[in-house]
Amino acid sequence: MKFRLFIPLALLMSCQTVKKVEEVKGTNNLLEDVKTLSSEAYQGRKTGTEGAAMARAYLKKRIAALGLSSFPALSDFEQSFKAKERNGSSVDAKNVVAYLPGKSSKIIVISGHYDHLGVINNEVYNGADDNASGVAALLNIAAHYKKEKPNHTLVFAFFDAGELDWQGSNYFVNHAPFDMSRVILNVNLDMISHNEKYELYAAGTFRHPQLRKYLTHTQPKVKIMLGHDNPEFTVDDWTNQSDQGAFNDKGIPFLYFGVEDHKDYHRASDEFENINQEFFIDASEAIFEIVDNLDKDRDIQSMFRQKLQMRKQ
Ligand SMILES: [Zn+2]
Repeated sequence: MKFRLFIPLALLMSCQTVKKVEEVKGTNNLLEDVKTLSSEAYQGRKTGTEGAAMARAYLKKRIAALGLSSFPALSDFEQSFKAKERNGSSVDAKNVVAYLPGKSSKIIVISGHYDHLGVINNEVYNGADDNASGVAALLNIAAHYKKEKPNHTLVFAFFDAGELDWQGSNYFVNHAPFDMSRVILNVNLDMISHNEKYELYAAGTFRHPQLRKYLTHTQPKVKIMLGHDNPEFTVDDWTNQSDQGAFNDKGIPFLYFGVEDHKDYHRASDEFENINQEFFIDASEAIFEIVDNLDKDRDIQSMFRQKLQMRKQ
């Protein structure tokens, strides 16, 4: 039994703007991206497998088409590292990292793990919600900024070994291809497409209440919920249950977007057919709008200045 903190942000919901899916810019590929990455061909994208390599190839093709850049310290968007499997053996793992230069050198890292569980007892665990959905939403955010340059430099980090206790993000924050003191915020997405009640959690504002005011959006099928970030409720606190944990460990503020566990969580039935398509598209657009609220506000730098100074000491 989990403790649950429900604070529905009804006031943040706006019903006046009901957009048809086709009218929303940048969403054309959302469903296609999830469908492809969670198809049988990708064999559940387990770290170190051919399926994970296929996922990287797909991602690199998409991010190149979106005009994202690779850091000079990386080899064609890839950051290689050794991950440890559950049985203790070592496996080759690779994060995929791209960026869009902004007007400012300050960085917002937008992240999500692309690996999943692979094949278990001859069943493919396709991981449509976990986390092809988050990966697709990252690509959707990048697509929105194709025409208009962001204020902040946006780093898109697709982490490997998320299903192995977040080793990809832990490696990344300790071996970033840029000076980590430039990072003012992490926005992490992990499972954003599967909820019958249209509830999407935004965790992280317990530690950084200043972030609450940015959680506004116009998507009709998404209720933003606060919670799952109070360290007093250890089981319920999701801070260390996805890639935002590595950033939090470095003192970097984060917003984590995700749904509560569902019937298909970590089961072979986490397939494209079982996600809530309308909710997913609206959730992806809502997250883009929130990222854009943050990006448009140059004050978020000064808001975190105190924290950044504390980190340097
Ligand atoms: Zn996940």
